[in-house]
Amino acid sequence: MKKLWCWRCKMEIPMLNEEEYAIAHKLYLKSFKRRISGMTREEGFKPLLDYYREITGFEETEPNAIMHHRIAQYGPSCQNCGKPYRTPEAKMCADCGNKRSQKNQ
Ligand SMILES: [Zn+2]
Ligand SMILES: [Zn+2]
Repeated sequence: MKKLWCWRCKMEIPMLNEEEYAIAHKLYLKSFKRRISGMTREEGFKPLLDYYREITGFEETEPNAIMHHRIAQYGPSCQNCGKPYRTPEAKMCADCGNKRSQKNQ
């Protein structure tokens, strides 16, 4: 878990590493099965929301939001403003326009 700026939520939010994301994703898929078996949206997604709260301490209510809070979806932090590049391949910072350095500085 690492706090990063989220471009969709427009705030800093706890993001999941690949290990945590794999577990969250499984819980997410299970949630749909739980819902098909007759649970409400709230009940169905509870294990996912509980898991997210357990590792991040963040009270998230929107399961879909958790699914885009994955560190690997973003690039490294911009050398200029500190926000993560929007994608791992991004050449330019979407916030300050800083060109991404290809060298390891
Ligand atoms: Zn977000
Ligand atoms: Zn920047």
